Amino acid sequence: MNRIIRVFPHKNSYSPDDEYAFFGEPTPLFPLPEHDEIHISCTFTWDKAFCEYLAYQYESLTNKPVKLGGVAYGSTAEGFIQGMYIKKNIIFTSRGCNNNCPWCVVHKTEGKLRELPICEGNIIQDNNFLQTSRVHQNKVFDMLKHQHGICFKGGLEPDLITQRFIDDMSVIDFRRIKELWLACDTDQRIPYLKKACELLSNAGFTKNKLHCYVLSYGKDREKDEARARAVYEAGAMPFVQLYRDFTNNKTQYDADWNAWARMWQRPAATRAHMEKFTSYLDFKT
Ligand code: SF4
Repeated sequence: MNRIIRVFPHKNSYSPDDEYAFFGEPTPLFPLPEHDEIHISCTFTWDKAFCEYLAYQYESLTNKPVKLGGVAYGSTAEGFIQGMYIKKNIIFTSRGCNNNCPWCVVHKTEGKLRELPICEGNIIQDNNFLQTSRVHQNKVFDMLKHQHGICFKGGLEPDLITQRFIDDMSVIDFRRIKELWLACDTDQRIPYLKKACELLSNAGFTKNKLHCYVLSYGKDREKDEARARAVYEAGAMPFVQLYRDFTNNKTQYDADWNAWARMWQRPAATRAHMEKFTSYLDFKT
């Protein structure tokens, strides 16, 4: 197998941590190990200039091929190589999605959903796990039976959460499931989210384990605030994400929007905010 050095512009909690993973500019303190090629991996378009600079820097240190790619360059994600561009325990068991949500790049970069061979890992990052077949899901649950700290982080589509799915998932000891992430990106999804939360809370999943991505375009505070509150009241902890348009410049929001989104990203702050809101309603009635 090729010995591939992967270079990332920044380190984050998903970054691989093996001896072939490098971050930012090369430094004499960390000489490059023997390798066959170098991949500069760029996820966000606003990091492209820096990644091109990194490619230039690394090219000067090696006579092996230096390849520049990643989501920012429209590289297609056909399959999944465990541990290559994300930590080994974070896995994709499928790629793509059959939906075409206008704010999302998955259907453009990965195409229609397809199932992949399943490797061992405890964080399932699939974009739309619930669109995979029941047979595939059950194979994933079988693999997960032996894992701890299990997270479904990709954002489960609430209208596809069924009692059948929960029953099938129950081959896993639910105490081993740390987080289930749902998604509620539009107001139309709220009724489905409520139903999904009801089914999951009947199965024992509380707000400590149930989380939900809430997309905000940073334009209509009242509407987005109401959706985040509806998610909280349905039984999941909202996590507001401000929309990024994946052009060369990172979409900027003013300090007030950033502070509001941060408040909905921290469970303690979210709880305090919701308590304040409930006492305000009590006061009004
Ligand atoms: S369902 Fe999720 S992954 Fe699929 S297109 Fe919509 S946002 Fe993207």
